[in-house]
Amino acid sequence: MTIANHQGYPTIPEFNGNFDTGLQYYNDSKSIAHSMADIKREINVVVVGGSYAGAAAAKKLADLSKKGYSGLKVTLIDKSTHYFHAVGFPKALIDAKYAERAFLPFAGFFEPGFKHAFVQGKLEKVIDAHSIQLENGQTIHYDYLVIATGGQAPGPINVIGSTKEAGLAEIAELRAGLDSANTIMIVGGGAVGVEVAGYAAAAYPAKKVTLVHSGSRLLPGNFREGVSNGAVEKLGKLGVNVILNERIELPSDSAYAAHIGSTEVFGSSGKKYQADVLIKAVGFQVHSEFIEPLEALCGQSLRANEEEGPRFIRVLPTLQIKSAMFPNVFVAGDANDMPMTTKYGFKAEMQGNTAASNIKRMIECGFDQELAHALNVDPVAAADVQVPALSKWSDLVDAIMVPIGPDLGVAQALKVALGSSALANCLVSLVKSRDFMLWMRKGYFKSRHAK
Ligand SMILES: Cc1cc2nc3c(=O)[nH]c(=O)nc-3n(C[C@H](O)[C@H](O)[C@H](O)COP(=O)(O)OP(=O)(O)OC[C@H]3O[C@@H](n4cnc5c(N)ncnc54)[C@H](O)[C@@H]3O)c2cc1C
Repeated sequence: MTIANHQGYPTIPEFNGNFDTGLQYYNDSKSIAHSMADIKREINVVVVGGSYAGAAAAKKLADLSKKGYSGLKVTLIDKSTHYFHAVGFPKALIDAKYAERAFLPFAGFFEPGFKHAFVQGKLEKVIDAHSIQLENGQTIHYDYLVIATGGQAPGPINVIGSTKEAGLAEIAELRAGLDSANTIMIVGGGAVGVEVAGYAAAAYPAKKVTLVHSGSRLLPGNFREGVSNGAVEKLGKLGVNVILNERIELPSDSAYAAHIGSTEVFGSSGKKYQADVLIKAVGFQVHSEFIEPLEALCGQSLRANEEEGPRFIRVLPTLQIKSAMFPNVFVAGDANDMPMTTKYGFKAEMQGNTAASNIKRMIECGFDQELAHALNVDPVAAADVQVPALSKWSDLVDAIMVPIGPDLGVAQALKVALGSSALANCLVSLVKSRDFMLWMRKGYFKSRHAK
């Protein structure tokens, strides 16, 4: 079925980059909006999740209002009242004042004077190509949707409270556990585990801190061995006992996955370990059940299979969800099925920007009007609306910076590994350890706008 183009935009598919979904793309060099009047129409963009990916997308789109898009309304939805700077969790854990600063209010996100709004609420389901429903039953209409709900590390690394007070209380409970512990165990030698072990050891030099990792070397495998070896060496300087090739059988899961109070666990070697506090830095999950209604509508799974691990939402390189029926739905950041090597804040932010650029492109081409027109005819007709050529996101930068306590660290950028060197310590301290790049997030959360 081909939908007549009631806008007069060219729809002849000069380029069909359908990426196996049937989506029809056209080479649209001639199809940019004809006048500012086109972009003054009412357009609702909903962004769910206000962290790296969502904040970038919402900010970039909201800024269009300053450029004549007077009918544009961006609604940012998050289940929490505050953004929590998870990147700074290792410092927040041992520094109560920093923890206090690591929560930034969504209330001040948008500049006043425009239609944009923040709504606190949890996404319950994406009903169809034009509406979502929150946990409280509220239905919100969208022309374009960006899902940026991320992934969840185990609590309290992933703060689960929906207010600043609740989040601070979670972290404070763990801090109090560390204060009274003699033995601390961190399970998982990825970047988070290494950072938490380093900060715990630096803050509590008299306590026995153990980092146990199931792999043969610390940190993600796509980084050089020198970086991993440097991490072992520098953790050793702080007195951390690093145990590799040992898989710990973890106490049964809970939402709040740190175990405070003496516990005994066994490793795959059969060895028994005791810890007064055990912190899980493994077990990344994705909650994506909310797109089940879309799966029912298009008759296909839009998520990675359960056996494959976290149920990431499948996307095209353009970050559109991988179904021809929902070309106006984007998924940016940790929630999508880009490889695990992309699960970083700065990459999520780049993806948020790409999703926003692509939505801007679609707005300029009148895509939302064509889609609405098609959906009036038949829900399946959405698949036939031709999409303008969009940008593809590609993962071009591989870099990591891992503070190990406030004064030490390892890093890699552009394939140059800085492991054992003193230069690594200087670089990481200068760039990251001071405030874990919290200052960069403040550009998004201008609390002066908060009521
Ligand atoms: C302890 C720790 C340290 C890290 N250190 C670094 C680092 O140094 N550098 C780096 O680049 N990356 C780091 N990362 C990874 C980085 O934090 C993530 O890659 C990044 O946060 C992903 O961003 P995101 O926007 O995709 O999602 P998230 O940051 O996961 O944010 C998702 C947002 O969606 C909201 N949300 C979730 N579900 C719903 C729902 N159903 N309804 C409404 N709202 C919802 C959440 O409240 C949250 O605000 C670290 C992660 C952790 C846990």
